[in-house]
Amino acid sequence: VAAAIAFARSHELPLAIRGGGHNGPGFGACDDGVVADLRPMHAISLDAGARVAKVGGGCLWQEVDAATHEVGMAVPCGIVSTTGVGGLTLGGGSGHLTRKYGLTIDNLLGAEVVLADGTLVHADADSHPDLFWALRGGGGNFGVVTSFQFQMQQCSTVVAGPTFWPIEQTAEVLKVYRSFIGAAPRDLGGWFATLTVPPVDLFPADLHLRKVCAVLWCHLGEDTEAAAAAIAPMLDAAGPALLHGPGAMPSPALQALFDGLYPPGHQWYWRGAFVTEIPDEAAAVHQAMGETLPTPGSTMHLYCVDGAPQDVGPTETAWSFREANWSQVMIGVDPDPATATTLRDWCVEYSERIAPYTPSGAYINFMMEEGTSRIRATYRDNYDRLVRVKRHYDPENTFRINQNIQPAA
Ligand SMILES: Cc1cc2nc3c(=O)[nH]c(=O)nc-3n(C[C@H](O)[C@H](O)[C@H](O)COP(=O)(O)OP(=O)(O)OC[C@H]3O[C@@H](n4cnc5c(N)ncnc54)[C@H](O)[C@@H]3O)c2cc1C
Repeated sequence: VAAAIAFARSHELPLAIRGGGHNGPGFGACDDGVVADLRPMHAISLDAGARVAKVGGGCLWQEVDAATHEVGMAVPCGIVSTTGVGGLTLGGGSGHLTRKYGLTIDNLLGAEVVLADGTLVHADADSHPDLFWALRGGGGNFGVVTSFQFQMQQCSTVVAGPTFWPIEQTAEVLKVYRSFIGAAPRDLGGWFATLTVPPVDLFPADLHLRKVCAVLWCHLGEDTEAAAAAIAPMLDAAGPALLHGPGAMPSPALQALFDGLYPPGHQWYWRGAFVTEIPDEAAAVHQAMGETLPTPGSTMHLYCVDGAPQDVGPTETAWSFREANWSQVMIGVDPDPATATTLRDWCVEYSERIAPYTPSGAYINFMMEEGTSRIRATYRDNYDRLVRVKRHYDPENTFRINQNIQPAA
């Protein structure tokens, strides 16, 4: 890694760092420059007694899920197992276990980092604490992480799966969901979505390609009755579902459930938003935009970031929006390059229509290249500290193929 950085710098070439290659705007690669591809750095070692996982900077989450499951634990991450540990973690990381165990950064204990000058440092609460603070949400701005140390959490079997309702009921279902989920026990995760039912055997044929709204549940433990009891008030209040499918499964099976829907190579455009409340007007926007999902792969997710993430203060890590209850992503996806403009237009329209009901920042991992003002709005009061850390660790902005914190700002 140090050699790649030195080569790029001495030849004045742009330098991209590639983890899992899932980044929306494509920051894991660059044209006419150097790509430091971390994929061979995927060693994992566990200390089950101390509940610590040491994970190579180029790991995919599926590798971590498989290893930690062996000892009945998990590192809280996202919802697609082909995503890279590097990009997801450095941006923040939300997924099925977030309400219970916090963001991925809330489970980060330390990191080995190669800095712009090629030196290797260990960052944690005691060593390079400013760097450690910035790594937790500030993206790949400060160095190349060659190894992450995570706190593992108790998680082996989960009761998980979707409930679908007709897309025409989106606003009504959301009005039930918005107050239900915040009051639910933290053992229950349940993110909201609008989507088109994939034409796969997992779902009944009469639902294939039907647009629906959904909650994707994940209840910790193997007790299906406890899970059903936790979900029941939502089902009772939201009205008849088209499908209710939660069942017990190993945690890595849940993590890989959606992998097949999002293979590499598809067109991909997205916009994000933080959400604190879902007023009736916003619920109506979600319904209207759900009814016009532009392609079968396109979707909208409202990931829960309430619960454990809110036990951490807004300046304790670079992730500022601790008061948000959801992190929203609007995703246009399709295999056909001819749809690119349609996907983009739908995401931008959705983003503009929801803007009056959301603050101006968004999760950096759900943003395209949207300019410095959007990045500032995302970090709010933490932005100036991020600039100071950037000036100290990367004054020449060697690491700039990312949601960039500019040292000169
Ligand atoms: C199908 C899909 C599902 C997703 N689901 C979720 C989800 O559930 N939750 C969630 O929080 N996010 C999710 N994301 C978003 C994801 O977190 C971001 O796209 C993230 O950037 C992907 O990280 P990566 O390592 O795969 O990407 P890459 O494209 O390889 O890298 C992304 C950025 O991170 C930097 N980077 C990567 N590794 C390192 C490293 N070791 N050191 C320094 N910098 C590094 C790169 O330079 C680049 O700027 C999803 C994305 C996709 C495509």
